[in-house]
Amino acid sequence: MFRSLVPRAAPRAIRPSAVSRSTFCAPNIYFQGRSRRGYASEAEEKDLVIIGGGVAGYVAAIKAGQSGLKVACIEKRGALGGTCLNVGCIPSKSLLNNSHLYHQILHDTKHRGIEVGEVKVNLQAMMQAKDTSVAGLTKGVEFLFKKNNVEYIKGTGAFQDEHTIAVNLIDGGETTVRGKNILIATGSEATPFPGLTIDEKKVITSTGAIAMQEVPKKMVVIGGGIIGLEMGSVWSRLGSEVTVVEFLGQIGGPGMDAEVAKQTQKILQKQGMKFKLNTKVTKGDAEGEGVTINTEAAKGGKEELLDADVVLCAIGRRPYTNGLGLENIGLETDDRGRLIIDQEYRTKIQHIRAIGDVTFGPMLAHKAEEEAVAAIEYLTKGYGHVNYGAIPSVMYTHPEVAWVGQNEQELKSAGVKYKVGSFPFSANSRAKTNLDTLGFVKMLSDAETDRILGIHIVGPNAGEMIAEGVLAIEYGASSEDVARTSHAHPTLSEAFKEAAMATYDKAIHY
Ligand SMILES: Cc1cc2nc3c(=O)[nH]c(=O)nc-3n(C[C@H](O)[C@H](O)[C@H](O)COP(=O)(O)OP(=O)(O)OC[C@H]3O[C@@H](n4cnc5c(N)ncnc54)[C@H](O)[C@@H]3O)c2cc1C
Repeated sequence: MFRSLVPRAAPRAIRPSAVSRSTFCAPNIYFQGRSRRGYASEAEEKDLVIIGGGVAGYVAAIKAGQSGLKVACIEKRGALGGTCLNVGCIPSKSLLNNSHLYHQILHDTKHRGIEVGEVKVNLQAMMQAKDTSVAGLTKGVEFLFKKNNVEYIKGTGAFQDEHTIAVNLIDGGETTVRGKNILIATGSEATPFPGLTIDEKKVITSTGAIAMQEVPKKMVVIGGGIIGLEMGSVWSRLGSEVTVVEFLGQIGGPGMDAEVAKQTQKILQKQGMKFKLNTKVTKGDAEGEGVTINTEAAKGGKEELLDADVVLCAIGRRPYTNGLGLENIGLETDDRGRLIIDQEYRTKIQHIRAIGDVTFGPMLAHKAEEEAVAAIEYLTKGYGHVNYGAIPSVMYTHPEVAWVGQNEQELKSAGVKYKVGSFPFSANSRAKTNLDTLGFVKMLSDAETDRILGIHIVGPNAGEMIAEGVLAIEYGASSEDVARTSHAHPTLSEAFKEAAMATYDKAIHY
């Protein structure tokens, strides 16, 4: 576990009100005997300068403002909220929600006693609805900046030296801002597929996939991870013939429990998506009208060509530090481009920290958010807390897939002895009432102590239900603890309780 509750370094601020140059910097050699010429004015000198206004950066900025720090946040996009709000979590969930509604009206309302006339997609309006949600949320963050006295600098920041950031302003011109402490939160970008040039029209990343102007007839998704499956689902529901090519033998990435992945694949197949597992894309050609993709078995074998109107490259994301001027301060990244940090998010330059996608750990918005709060607490109080063993993952397909903790294949390979219990939604009264019974809840607990080790759900509202699992793991609950906790009837969460009962003893309703 990556938990540290003990202050490690001596000179650290205890209270925000005690902010001063000496409290926030390790013995500060940078100021000694230096001329101020060329630096920003005294008024611009901050306790904390944050580079990147994504989830990591903006949450840290608000927390720092709340803690009484003089803080500036530099963002080059022209809008706050980063990948998550602008081109990630939020727009993709808007399209997932609305394309699901459309799909449901088309295929799933008649037997509920709801008959509708002609159903059509107005893609422009669907995109508009997405843009409205995004704009509302990004403006909301701007409001929170004002409320918490965060200075928002619109531009691209680069290190001039260890305390000075040069900013190329969006509206033209340049400025510098000096910080006693600096937080790097520059996030990540889509990993390109070698040999295929991204044009965000025919060969797209998720950024193109949330902004297409028409429904492609055929779409190939390279990569069967969460982003590929979510975006593949959207366009499949809207009428595309979607084929997902995945190098591994299962969808969802290695974190997804193999049994859950198998079940989810079956469900998505029924919805119309096609899968080619254990298959690698060797090259592609986008010169013609469409795109041709060459594939073969992951272990090598006969070549197969796939034609598509649009190819979505969803093979992962990589940390983004381009143009940040790391070379000016001697900061290096590891072989995967991640900034190297210690347990308090400090780089080897003690007053420069890094959080979010640009450093280690799962690339998830809520992970970035936890780190943001902890990093500011380390700065202001000397201690912070993130439990990396209790960060949930959610895939917002229908049904949703969600998990926290370890999966069965991980426990097996670690040689951990465990108990397993599961409960299908087909035996849950609320799911039956809602005619939404696909999937199950699966719980894994330590064979000896019964402490819950992992929870894996495929089913309706799994993304909300997993919060109970996160809390259980955070508090070290046993499956018996959950089994003996009353859950309201009739709710989907009763399936969660029954899975715990099945782990600890026996389920009642199955
Ligand atoms: C399609 C998609 C769907 C996703 N869905 C989910 C989801 O459902 N749930 C979830 O938890 N996560 C999801 N994610 C992942 C999530 O978006 C990221 O984990 C999260 O945004 C990381 O936050 P961050 O602040 O570290 O980085 P980012 O959000 O990438 O923010 C970094 C910001 O820094 C800015 N920046 C970079 N360099 C500079 C510079 N030199 N100067 C000034 N500004 C700079 C960038 O413009 C950017 O706005 C999704 C991602 C994608 C692509």
